[in-house]
Amino acid sequence: MESIKFDYVIVGGGAAGLHLAFAMSKDLFFRSKKIGIIEKSGKNSNDRTWCFWEKGEGSWEDIVSYSWNNCEFITNEKVTSLNLEAYHYKMIKAIDFYKKVITHLKETPNFHWIQDEVLHIQEGSPSKIVTTKNNYSAFHIFDSRITPNFYKNEKHINLIQHFKGWIIETKEDVFNPDSFVMMDFRLKYPESTSFTYVLPYTAKKALIEFTFFSPSLVADQVYDSYIKKYIEQVLGCSEYSIFDTEKGIIPMSNYPFHNANNKSVTKIGTAGSWVKGSSGYSFKNAERFSKRIVNNIKNKHLPSHDLFKRRFKKYDTLFLHVLFNHNDLGEEIFSNMYTKNSISLLFSFLDEETTFAEELKIINSLRWRPFINAVYKQLIQ
Ligand SMILES: Cc1cc2nc3c(=O)[nH]c(=O)nc-3n(C[C@H](O)[C@H](O)[C@H](O)COP(=O)(O)OP(=O)(O)OC[C@H]3O[C@@H](n4cnc5c(N)ncnc54)[C@H](O)[C@@H]3O)c2cc1C
Repeated sequence: MESIKFDYVIVGGGAAGLHLAFAMSKDLFFRSKKIGIIEKSGKNSNDRTWCFWEKGEGSWEDIVSYSWNNCEFITNEKVTSLNLEAYHYKMIKAIDFYKKVITHLKETPNFHWIQDEVLHIQEGSPSKIVTTKNNYSAFHIFDSRITPNFYKNEKHINLIQHFKGWIIETKEDVFNPDSFVMMDFRLKYPESTSFTYVLPYTAKKALIEFTFFSPSLVADQVYDSYIKKYIEQVLGCSEYSIFDTEKGIIPMSNYPFHNANNKSVTKIGTAGSWVKGSSGYSFKNAERFSKRIVNNIKNKHLPSHDLFKRRFKKYDTLFLHVLFNHNDLGEEIFSNMYTKNSISLLFSFLDEETTFAEELKIINSLRWRPFINAVYKQLIQ
């Protein structure tokens, strides 16, 4: 079978693939390039919600469902209310993002949306892509499939962010829609980093999620029982109905997915180390890295040139190391982080935009001697 020729093929039209295709479509440089996006699913269900922070207006304002300028960090000892200053914490429904970007791509003549499953990639110049229905070739492939080696690896730190959430509607006013709850440690699964996350949509409607940053999964009933306990015992609410549920697993790992990048293929998204190892956030990274890839191509660099900042990869590894080996210490570490630093400084640290002096300030605030020692040891190596 003769293959269909492309300049670029993006495998996977999820968060990363769509961010990248969108960034390319907005740049005149790519007008003369033929770009295919091969996605196996229809992308017509709301399979997740994405939250991220940014200053002022961003590129997705028209599809932001909710946004907050305040949050709370809660432990058994105290409630810390934080104003996000110039930042807003924004929520987007995946279905709105898929619809917006896919509609735009289908209207852009040099982009080709192909619903099919990629079975095999043979790297070369050009590389070959075999799907269930066709063969394609491309000078560069952006691949969002996670390598099976990741699941077999025992050398790297593999924590998982796993959670279940209920969207509930209450009879009485229960929530403050002006402020979301970043982490509430009042209920904790024994010996683990686990907390409740609350996104209040209105005074009567909210997403309540019980989340773990831990080495292994728990049974479904565990999440349910903690959410129920949170609503009934912590919030003191007995009359409510469950509207919808959300479940997710996000790898928090220092596995070097990006080592597979070369002149023929760039791994993207979760499969390309775009998920911040220490936080599990990646939506905003996908936008950031897509812009860097576009600039790299225009400047005749490898697409993956300088995508990551080494210093921050080290911080992520250290953080994962501590949480993996002392999973019960999450509350103390996050508590020091959120209550002893300004939230703008933390957001800018997580966005990898801080100076070294600012990073030392955050590290010192953690106050946990082994952590600080480990950080300094790594930094002077
Ligand atoms: C429930 C949930 C909630 C999350 N919430 C947040 C959040 O609030 N904020 C945040 O920053 N991050 C969040 N994340 C983490 C991260 O942003 C998402 O997982 C994000 O979708 C990762 O993007 P991706 O492109 O790597 O993967 P995906 O979005 O999963 O996209 C991969 C795509 O590749 C396609 N595909 C796979 N194999 C093939 C194949 N062989 N052929 C063709 N297509 C294929 C899949 O169908 C899929 O569409 C969340 C994750 C989950 C699971």
